[in-house]
Amino acid sequence: MSKHPGNFRYTPQDSLISILPSVIAGILSLSMTIIATIVLYPPLSTLHRNGLIAYGIAGCIYLGFYYRNYILSPNKSIYAWGNTVIAGISLGILPYLISTKLEYLIYTLLFMAALATSVISGRGPAYSLIIIFSVVHSLHYFQTETSLTGWITHGGLLIASLITVETIQQLKTISQKQMNRLEIVNEISKQIGSTLDTKQLLTLLDAELQNVIVADTYYFGVQQEDKLFMELFYDDGQYFNGVSVDLEGTLSHWVLKNQQTLFLADLRMDVKLEGVNYTLAGKPKASLSWMGVPMKGFHVNGVMVIASYRPNAFNRSDLELLYNISQRAALALDNTYHHALVEEQARLDSLTRVYNHGYFIQKLREQAQACSLEKHPLSLIMLDIDHFKQYNDSFGHIVGDEILVRLCDTIRQHIKKDDAVGRWGGEEFAISLPNTNEQQAVQVARRIRETLATIKINNHEHIEIPAPTTSMGIAVFPKETEDVTKLIDLADRRLYIAKKRGRDQIEIAPTL
Ligand code: GH3
Ligand code: MG
Ligand code: MG
Repeated sequence: MSKHPGNFRYTPQDSLISILPSVIAGILSLSMTIIATIVLYPPLSTLHRNGLIAYGIAGCIYLGFYYRNYILSPNKSIYAWGNTVIAGISLGILPYLISTKLEYLIYTLLFMAALATSVISGRGPAYSLIIIFSVVHSLHYFQTETSLTGWITHGGLLIASLITVETIQQLKTISQKQMNRLEIVNEISKQIGSTLDTKQLLTLLDAELQNVIVADTYYFGVQQEDKLFMELFYDDGQYFNGVSVDLEGTLSHWVLKNQQTLFLADLRMDVKLEGVNYTLAGKPKASLSWMGVPMKGFHVNGVMVIASYRPNAFNRSDLELLYNISQRAALALDNTYHHALVEEQARLDSLTRVYNHGYFIQKLREQAQACSLEKHPLSLIMLDIDHFKQYNDSFGHIVGDEILVRLCDTIRQHIKKDDAVGRWGGEEFAISLPNTNEQQAVQVARRIRETLATIKINNHEHIEIPAPTTSMGIAVFPKETEDVTKLIDLADRRLYIAKKRGRDQIEIAPTL
């Protein structure tokens, strides 16, 4: 699933720490080999003995040099291949210099050299070193080794050194993959943690997901009662952001209900999960691999899913990557949701929970602009409670406050999701109705008035008090004016006329 091999590389320091034991073991083995030859197998000619001592000293110096210079070397590749040739040849000629009885000690040196080369220079130089050693060494063998057992043993030791190289490479690959995954997750966290805006966060998350995964489908949905609201939904090259799907019986529902990750390698197999009745969403094409993880935060209760039309498209490490991404995303989303909530609170009037004066004007301007672009009308209703002061005076401020709250509940009952209501001040409210003409606005105003007449409010002695009436003025954009300030003024003046005409009525443009 992962698209990128990642940028993670071991630092020279990491490599040096891991080859230090090999270098030390190499120096010890070399010294042991030389000393043993000199001490255990005399008589040696002076030339032979001195040659061996020189070889040992040069070998130890070389190992020290190799270790130290590796960090300093600017061109690691030349250095790696140079070492391959030098180490391969010098190890290969050692059997010519020592007693055949000590030959197996050379394999210790070969193992250490192959291991260190595999760690810092990779597969190519390490294999080459073993091959060069074998070629040089084999010439000596043809002369000395006659038994088949001897050849098999030497062959076995060479294979063992090759396996050592390969094992190191596999371990490096595994740890590199893990480091890359961490790197991806860190990068994503950094990206998505940089914004407090949910929409922007989802765009960033989408871009990052596109960057790191190969999947036909991915989505992030939040539970809204019995539906899953898709904040982000990509399927087969198309986006379905903002759709809601029924949760009942879905795999997502199982993940949400059980708060557990779900990994289904092949959906053609029977999905035997309690309450799951596998259904399609997005394009009418069946996903055959599916993995989903729960995303739970303080404000977030959702699921992140990645799916493919191919079976067995993902493995467990993909699931782990998805899990790590989703948990970071849940945290970031929690932040943006919280931020949005705080911002929303700041826009609301604390008593009635409708927009405050400042935000209402901003909203009205935005809506007017949108309507103007789409050439749709927008109606504005200004509403004021009649004789509200008398309610306060007769029944107290608490009852007065309750009337304000109940009025706003009534208004909300009769307006649409995209309409806006704001507290203009005191007991005066403004209602903005985009895509609504005069007649429709009058209908809304009438319904508010009628419902308000039926509400039951008690005083502190639990005795029902008369329901309040309201006066309203309506003005229409852009038919009457294209200027929002003038629109407000027009509606306000009509509200004043309604008051003057005796209250409890709706005043509209004279021409209507
Ligand atoms: P009219 O029909 O002309 O609108 O008469 P009115 O009494 O409603 O108008 P007026 O402007 O004289 O009085 C408004 C009252 O609303 C005065 C003020 O104390 C009260 N009021 C404003 N805000 C609040 C509030 O938050 N809570 C309560 N209980 N009363 C409020
Ligand atoms: Mg009033
Ligand atoms: Mg008033």
